[in-house]
Amino acid sequence: MEFRIRLPELFCLYRGRIFTAMVRVFLGLGTNDGDREELLKAAMGEIGARCGRLVAVSAVYETAAWGLTDQPDFLNMVVELETPLAPTELLDVLQDIEADLQRVRVVRWGPRTMDLDLLFYGDEVIETERLTVPHPRIAERRFVLVPLVEIAADFVHPVNGKTIVELLEECPDTLEVRKLA
Ligand code: AMP
Repeated sequence: MEFRIRLPELFCLYRGRIFTAMVRVFLGLGTNDGDREELLKAAMGEIGARCGRLVAVSAVYETAAWGLTDQPDFLNMVVELETPLAPTELLDVLQDIEADLQRVRVVRWGPRTMDLDLLFYGDEVIETERLTVPHPRIAERRFVLVPLVEIAADFVHPVNGKTIVELLEECPDTLEVRKLA
């Protein structure tokens, strides 16, 4: 005889644990040190394995470094994820992945092996010591908005009520963001 447990729709089973419903999350990935394309692939593999289900992935873009400009260009991309993890659990895993990919950061805005940012966590607004969500610099960074437009043009920023397309149109950042072939 076969037993099946039917979970109410608000719950889901993920890797042997029962969670409340999955949350739609966007992450920003950036790297400007080492084999950048391999690092992005490795980060995506880890995110898919440890954070939830990858739903969409943008193209990869090359961007001049922001802030401290005398350093190698960055590769940036964004991914959409369905995650069962709570925001701080997700941040913990993202920081573990950064550490595993040996992020070395000596100077603020200096070269980094892998930087993972939690851009949006559903439409939640979070302000704690460790976490600000939506990520506070989304609206001023073309290297985040350009890839986001590709996979989430109509997503509405829960704080300012603007779509990603609108934010890109109004973005004051002038740094070139070049799509890799
Ligand atoms: P950065 O290396 O500039 O991305 O900053 C990393 C630090 O930002 C960590 O200490 C995090 O706790 C904190 N932080 C705050 N909000 C976020 C967010 N939305 N995504 C990633 N890190 C965040």
